[in-house]
Amino acid sequence: MTDAGHNWQEVRREVPADIGLVAVSKFHPVNALLAAYDAGCHTFGESRVQELCAKRDLLPADVEWHFIGHLQPNKVKYIAPFVSLIHAVDTPKLLAEISKRGKQCGRRVPCLLQVHVAREETKFGFSPEELLAYLATRTWREQDGASIEGLMCMASNTDDMAQVEAEFKQVARLFDEVKGQYFADNPAFRLRSYGMSHDWPVAVACGSNLVRIGTRIFGEREY
Ligand SMILES: *Cc1c(COP(=O)(O)O)cnc(C)c1O
Repeated sequence: MTDAGHNWQEVRREVPADIGLVAVSKFHPVNALLAAYDAGCHTFGESRVQELCAKRDLLPADVEWHFIGHLQPNKVKYIAPFVSLIHAVDTPKLLAEISKRGKQCGRRVPCLLQVHVAREETKFGFSPEELLAYLATRTWREQDGASIEGLMCMASNTDDMAQVEAEFKQVARLFDEVKGQYFADNPAFRLRSYGMSHDWPVAVACGSNLVRIGTRIFGEREY
């Protein structure tokens, strides 16, 4: 078995069985995805629409494709018919477009709202205040071609695990608040997508139930 297959099995054994695992395959060749697939991995995460669609054509049809990156509204149409989860909805405009395209293909596209809690200025997402203000408008309730199923975040890119932990805990609290206030009657709102190769154990300790792991499975990326 090649490395990616072996690594995926190892990671799958380490991550508790009730926690979802997305194998982040961006920038890695199709061979590596096929090796992971043969080892049992059927959920891949990609961050560019063109790359995702090209790989989808070459992998078995039962693969679940997650879109994990920043998504431009004008590209939603290419993935709306089949994508299993869009992790990083960062504007009301993007949610509206996902809903529109979802309706056009007769489905509700599962998605997560991205919360910006990291220190870096450049990361996308709603600040916690913006998220609460947006949800309070209740306009999202009209976007019924999209199914809001939880929150996603990326922690600061730092070795300071106390900082990372504080950020994940902030999102966990926000999830509980939002769930209680707006989604108490909606069992689909259940996902907390946080944790990557270097910080997933902290994320899981802070309530993540969906981790997105790339490097640990596929090795370093060459951009
Ligand atoms: C690339 C990426 C990951 C995976 O990161 P690794 O450090 O390689 O595990 C997870 N989430 C998002 C949003 C990413 O862009």
